[in-house]
Amino acid sequence: MTFEYAPAPESTAVVKLKPEYGLFINGKFVPAKDGKSFATINPSNEQHLAKVAYASEADVNKAVAAANEAYKKIWSKMPASERGKYLFRIARILQERAREFAVLESMDNGKPIRETRDVDIPLAAAHFFYHAGWADKLEHAGMGSNPKPHGVVGQIIPWNFPLLMLSWKIAPALATGNTVVLKPAETTPLTALLFAEVCQQAGLPAGVVNIVTGDGKTGSLIVNHKDIQKIAFTGSTAVGKGIARAIAGTKKAATLELGGKGANIVFEDAPIDETVEGIINGIFFNQGHVCCAGSRLLVQENIQEELLEKLKRRMALIRVGDPLDKNTDLGAINSAAQLAKIRELVDSGDAEGAERWSPACDLPAKGFWYPPTFFTGVTQANRIAREEIFGPVLSVISFRTPQEAIEKANNTPFGLSAGIWTDKGSRILWTAKHLKAGVIWANTFNKFDPASPFGGYKESGWGREGGRHGLAAYLKGVH
Ligand code: NAD
Repeated sequence: MTFEYAPAPESTAVVKLKPEYGLFINGKFVPAKDGKSFATINPSNEQHLAKVAYASEADVNKAVAAANEAYKKIWSKMPASERGKYLFRIARILQERAREFAVLESMDNGKPIRETRDVDIPLAAAHFFYHAGWADKLEHAGMGSNPKPHGVVGQIIPWNFPLLMLSWKIAPALATGNTVVLKPAETTPLTALLFAEVCQQAGLPAGVVNIVTGDGKTGSLIVNHKDIQKIAFTGSTAVGKGIARAIAGTKKAATLELGGKGANIVFEDAPIDETVEGIINGIFFNQGHVCCAGSRLLVQENIQEELLEKLKRRMALIRVGDPLDKNTDLGAINSAAQLAKIRELVDSGDAEGAERWSPACDLPAKGFWYPPTFFTGVTQANRIAREEIFGPVLSVISFRTPQEAIEKANNTPFGLSAGIWTDKGSRILWTAKHLKAGVIWANTFNKFDPASPFGGYKESGWGREGGRHGLAAYLKGVH
């Protein structure tokens, strides 16, 4: 007998949407100079949420000038302990307004409220708390006795974890004494603009944080601005490569957090039920819109059949639907464009001869949706084994020996994450030592902590975010 879940929708009353949002420059919301704007919608039902100002060159110049002024006159002169107090204040306000942020993030992004409430927002606050503590201890962090900030930092973030990626960027930048111009992704600007209100509420001096909304063109204005000393970018490898080319030969510092195609490796002695949960979390968390997703399942051949049977049974229980329903596991795909990209890659998997499986599931009629899916019979040459799908689609590949698992796991242009599932500690250590990935989880997956550095090898990026290594990226001449 199966029990149906009664709907448990979260109320949206806590969110006060404005019809229009300006750019946040020098502590105030201002319209774009040429009056341009764009719309942001709820991807789960295609409803219009708000109009958002579109920043062109004059606006980016104004934001950079405000950040420069704030850096020279206020932020670089302020005692570090005072800087830290602002970060503590922001962290506490994020906690106090957590529900508002969680609901707004679900509305603008399409991710389930269960995730925004339990992961995105608490982790964003944790990043501010963690970095607040560092602000007045930098000279004890092993980076020299007088570490210096870069000055004005340009930050560009993607749509998959809007507030969390903002906190990964802004918290270390401010803790180390930089001022910032940040651009959220065009499909998810609303929590960054709510964060701007938090900066006002915290009494953060004007110009220390500036938020400009727009698309890739706005992003490239930030990248190429002569008064920006460092670029921190999170997004696709293609755009990251373009940024690397644009700043080559300049004195700009850069961190690039790019794509991934993580291998989740299951050995024959793995605890099978826990592993199934780890696979689910690895690929279906956040609709698979996760750079470090375990999107390639490498399973030892002799347990593949049993594992896939259990995985199918578990996948059939995934609840897909309204992101604001507290029971929902898998929410909406963030945009029509991302849905088209997922479909295109899935079609290539079909055409290249892999075998596709999804549980029966009713997808809502409006909005952008994709069912949880896996492919078997995948070869290493298939596009679904090589390219980042960035959706709820898993490619299953088998192996016979640990050596073969390593060769297959490392056979990718990326190197962001990996998972290892086994009963033996020695096998965990041996496997981790041979994997070329920046983050490796053992008998767990997608665990994040502000104290732990995160970043990739190869085409997954340059530099680290989080922990002491992440601080170094915001200090001049420290690597
Ligand atoms: P994207 O590269 O298209 O866009 C990311 C951001 O860059 C957006 O704000 C966009 O407006 C801006 N942008 C686009 N073109 C630009 C240009 N020419 N110059 C400057 N800025 C530009 O990526 P996306 O589709 O929004 O995000 C998904 C990608 O992000 C995936 O590849 C994912 O793996 C990656 N990602 C990586 C990490 C990580 O930490 N490694 C974390 C999250 C997401």
